[in-house]
Amino acid sequence: MSTFKAPKGTYDLLPPESAKYLAVREAIAAPLRNSGYGYIETPGFENVELFARGVGESTDIVTKEMYVFETRGGDRLALRPETTASVLRAVLEANLHKAGNLPVKVWYSGSQYRYERPQKGRYRHFSQVGAEAIGAEDPALDAELIILADQSYRALGLRNFRILLNSLGDKECRPVYRAALQDFLHGLDLDEETLRRAEINPLRVLDDKRPEVQKQLTGAPLLGDYLCDACKAYHEEVRSLLLAQGVTFEDDPKLVRGLDYYTRTTFEFVHDGLGSQSAVGGGGRYDGLSEMIGGPSLPSVGWALGVDRTVLALQAEGIEPDIPSATSVFAVPLGEEARRILFAKVTELRKNGVAADFAYGGKGLKAAMKAANRSGARYALVLGERDLAEGVVQLKDMESGEQTAVGVNEIVAELESRLG
Ligand code: AMP
Repeated sequence: MSTFKAPKGTYDLLPPESAKYLAVREAIAAPLRNSGYGYIETPGFENVELFARGVGESTDIVTKEMYVFETRGGDRLALRPETTASVLRAVLEANLHKAGNLPVKVWYSGSQYRYERPQKGRYRHFSQVGAEAIGAEDPALDAELIILADQSYRALGLRNFRILLNSLGDKECRPVYRAALQDFLHGLDLDEETLRRAEINPLRVLDDKRPEVQKQLTGAPLLGDYLCDACKAYHEEVRSLLLAQGVTFEDDPKLVRGLDYYTRTTFEFVHDGLGSQSAVGGGGRYDGLSEMIGGPSLPSVGWALGVDRTVLALQAEGIEPDIPSATSVFAVPLGEEARRILFAKVTELRKNGVAADFAYGGKGLKAAMKAANRSGARYALVLGERDLAEGVVQLKDMESGEQTAVGVNEIVAELESRLG
């Protein structure tokens, strides 16, 4: 062990486990690529103001969890705690929204940083795959995103998850509801900090996980009862589009989520095998975010799915994602000349698309065969002194144990035909 350890709240992805993370990212990305979403990549840090304005001054993410630092040049930056604000910033900066092709549909994959209290499923460095559809107000777009996330989880084999759905209203009806909720909250027995939160962002009090707070919240006014006709109609349309596609969801009138920019549709995917950190993904509509960061009006919708928690969900359901064996052929040379010949064969196999590896470090036969076993390769190639003299190589089927001598010049073709 070295003197150093991974920082608190972080962990390393190491083979073979790391292959699961790639499989999860790929399973989430595939339906998006298939639905008109283009890949976008933005920096891991941004001007701190982008998140303060975008995510919201009163959110835990901005007030407690951001990694903020000042550069040598005096810029105040933050490691990204989420990527939606960055994506919108990038789209506006490049004027993609003016190319006359709305919505701009993009997906991303990458690290996020939040200074949270670490526990299982909650880390300071984690990774998300996300999708954003920018510049269109259309219930079918909200439905599309929810359907695609559902499809990703199902493709991975997950079954024990639920979709929670709510509408947060818009700038017409939310303020009316907000005032009614504030009135209600003022009559409760709440601590200083919660009262302050009730002033700045009363909806987030509904999200308070403490039982003593939740108990007092029974009877709180519900946003659903305050939605204006336009929001109601919009939400009904999202619901019926989902139902028509056989996507089941639960209406959750208390779902508000931890970011301030949401309007209308909000949703969360929760997995029932994960304990307290049960949200595997979430998102919603953010019609006001563009204007909040100085852009034009661009109604948009998106989600982010947590890769770490999706891997935990797979474990909870006992699902091993389909990960093809990394190596098909493992070459074991015995001696200098054999090494040169087999190295050339391995290179040729790789060029032809066959996954091949090699016993490096001049290992003896026993250690090299152990390495071949560990690699998971279907075939081992062994080339010894006597084989060299005869112009053959021993081809060993690692499953049956059967061994055949094949001409050195024929071996690549033979392996290609056996591996199909
Ligand atoms: P959010 O950006 O807060 O809406 O979160 C979206 C998803 O990211 C969640 O449903 C989680 O799967 C994942 N996530 C959020 N915070 C963390 C964290 N601290 N550690 C691991 N995953 C997280």
